[in-house]
Amino acid sequence: MRVIKSISTRTFMLFFVLFGLSVILQAAPSDKKDTQKPIQIVGDIAFAPYTFINENGQPDGFFIELTKAVMHELKQPYTIKLEEWPKAMSQLKNKKIDFITGISHSESRDKLFKFGGSYVNITQNIIYRKDDEHIRTLSDLKNKKIIVETDAMSQYYLEKAGYGRHLYKVNDITIGFKLLSQGYYDALMCDYETAAYIIFHKGYGNLEMVDMQLTSRLYSYAGNSELQLSRIDWALQRLKANGTYSDIYNKWFNRYADFKWLQLIIISGISLILIAAFLWIFNIVLRRRVEKAHAMLDTKNKQLSIALHAGGIVVWGYDVQKDLLFNIECDYFPPQGVSPEKDLLNYHPDDRKLLYDSLHEAAKGNIPEKPICVRMSKVGTDEWLYAEKEFSAIKNKEGKVVTVIGTHKNVTEKHRMQALLEESVQRMGFAIKTANLVLWEYDVNTQQIKSYNEPLVDYNDSKMMFYERLLGSIHPDDVESTSKKFEGMNKQTEATFSFAMRLRYQPNEDWHYCMTIGSPFIRDSKTGKVLKYVGLRRDVTEMTLMNQKLEQEKVKAQEADRLKSAFLANMSHEIRTPLNAIVGFSGLLEDCEDPAVRSEYIKIINNNNNLLLQLINDILDLSKIESGILEIHRKEFDFSTAFNDLHHTFQARMGESEVKFLCDNPYDEFIVYSDYNRLIQIQTNFITNALKYTKKGYVKMSYRYEDEGLKLIVEDTGIGIAEEKKNRIFQRFEKLDKFAQGTGLGLSICKAIVDAANGKIGFDSVEGEGSTFWAWIPCKICRIVQKGKQT
Ligand code: ADP
Repeated sequence: MRVIKSISTRTFMLFFVLFGLSVILQAAPSDKKDTQKPIQIVGDIAFAPYTFINENGQPDGFFIELTKAVMHELKQPYTIKLEEWPKAMSQLKNKKIDFITGISHSESRDKLFKFGGSYVNITQNIIYRKDDEHIRTLSDLKNKKIIVETDAMSQYYLEKAGYGRHLYKVNDITIGFKLLSQGYYDALMCDYETAAYIIFHKGYGNLEMVDMQLTSRLYSYAGNSELQLSRIDWALQRLKANGTYSDIYNKWFNRYADFKWLQLIIISGISLILIAAFLWIFNIVLRRRVEKAHAMLDTKNKQLSIALHAGGIVVWGYDVQKDLLFNIECDYFPPQGVSPEKDLLNYHPDDRKLLYDSLHEAAKGNIPEKPICVRMSKVGTDEWLYAEKEFSAIKNKEGKVVTVIGTHKNVTEKHRMQALLEESVQRMGFAIKTANLVLWEYDVNTQQIKSYNEPLVDYNDSKMMFYERLLGSIHPDDVESTSKKFEGMNKQTEATFSFAMRLRYQPNEDWHYCMTIGSPFIRDSKTGKVLKYVGLRRDVTEMTLMNQKLEQEKVKAQEADRLKSAFLANMSHEIRTPLNAIVGFSGLLEDCEDPAVRSEYIKIINNNNNLLLQLINDILDLSKIESGILEIHRKEFDFSTAFNDLHHTFQARMGESEVKFLCDNPYDEFIVYSDYNRLIQIQTNFITNALKYTKKGYVKMSYRYEDEGLKLIVEDTGIGIAEEKKNRIFQRFEKLDKFAQGTGLGLSICKAIVDAANGKIGFDSVEGEGSTFWAWIPCKICRIVQKGKQT
């Protein structure tokens, strides 16, 4: 019983579970019967993108994809067909199919079908041709031929709005679009997405859509079984919950999202293209720049090479580590290079050390400040070429010199020209010095003089001198004229000029006569004003003094000429007087019987003879002096005796006179080696004059030994000589007293004799008191015996 009870309990429990399960299964949204029989679903064939036949001939669109997802969710077998909308409606109405996808409510439809929950909202739009009058409001549709899909919501809406008579119904709305685009009708009404889909896919670019804010319609499934519709609603809820619905919706309608992706892709694509284009252009530009830089570098290199070649410059290098000289811009060394020691053999022995030291110092980084000049042998000759070498160093990161770069320039010609220049400068300097010239340069801005061979700056060429310093050494009378020249130069207006001045190099020396010439040298290129003057100053002292002397000589000669004329006039008188006396008294002598008278006549004739003789002697002496052939005949004689004889002669001539004729002979013997006649001539002239111009008192003749010579002296107490006439006393033909007897030649003959013997002549005289004339003649004194003494 217990077993039976237990089995019965178990069987009951099993039965209960099976029953429960069958109830649950019956309560589930699908029944077994339904799931086995495919549900027949129909959609509008021309309701893209909701329902349409795709290019593969398969139903496609949002409703189709959603329906497939719903059926998959319900694990329900199904078939989907697309028909023209009226046919689809009719099939549902006749219950030949189970569902119709995507249909909106309307009063008439509500009576025919059962509707599920709506799952999409669709708005109606008006489509028209862009070329036609724009449609903005419903009233704009007045009198227009409007296309609608048969039994579509648009048809109902427009019929309701009163446009029923203008409607043209098509079963396939895509045909409506074609007819509109081709201009057979004026407008078309359908939902927005369908319109956008067809215009886009069919390429109706001449059509325009306008959203007229018409009431939107909710679409849902419609069928004949509420149970099936509720299961579909349940599945739709699931799809919405798991995101499948929104994925499908976004796939078909969220063009913005697509657009964003598309936009992003396009922007990225464009950006990439732009970047690629930029890189391409940049690459081209860069390549061109590089090519240009290369070309420029090539040109520069060529230019450098030409310049180096034109300048006779070659470039070489020295590898410090390898200790090798090598070619850079030359072919001077062998290709493998050469050691400096070997290369040095090409240079002058005296210059090798300089070159070697300079190279090795450069290798240590101590670059010679100036280029060095060395001599190198000219191949095949004994000549030396002069080469100028400059050094620079290339260092590594550690600052150590790795390469010495050097230039080599043949400066032989420059050197030769420089030597020539130096030589010509030296020559010019020598010429300037020899000609006693001063070469000067005046800087107008600094007002300083730079001069060459200038004694005022101790001949120091580098010493500058302000022009005031020059003025300080100029003769006071020349300062003004010289200052004017400097002022003219300072005003930069002075043209070529010359002026004379007297200059003294030392405070107490004689004035130097100088002639200065100057000329503008450097001018300002813009203003044309003179910046520097150059010129020469010549010391013309010698020439000036000579000119002065010549001038004096000329005056003297003119004066002598005048005196000579006067002398001739005098001579005619002087000669005629004694001649007349001689001739006259000689004639009288013939007829004169009286011996006393005859004797008187003879005396007169003798006196005049002497006078005439004296005159002629003087004239002869003068002519000798004039012709420079005054002869001196030296001999040894006792001047003491000659002196005494002279005194006796004059004493005898004087006869009775008031004037005492004194003789002062301090020597018994005075043996000299001299010209006897000339000494006596001097003394005679002095005595003659003294006796001529002394009427009382005395005339004293004397002589002395003085300064290794003989001094002759004649002193008188005669009329003396006026102060203003003293300077003319030794001039030829000079007679202070025109009425006195004489030729005016005596003293000048004395002076000529003294000068010829390198002696001296002079006098002291006081007018009205007397005169003392003296003459000193150097001569060899052989023996002197003072009065009363034996030497
Ligand atoms: P002259 O033969 O005419 O005397 P001199 O040459 O001897 O010419 O003298 C020149 C002039 O010097 C004389 O004319 C005279 O006027 C002046 N003179 C020369 N000696 C004396 C003297 N002792 N006392 C005064 N006048 C003198």
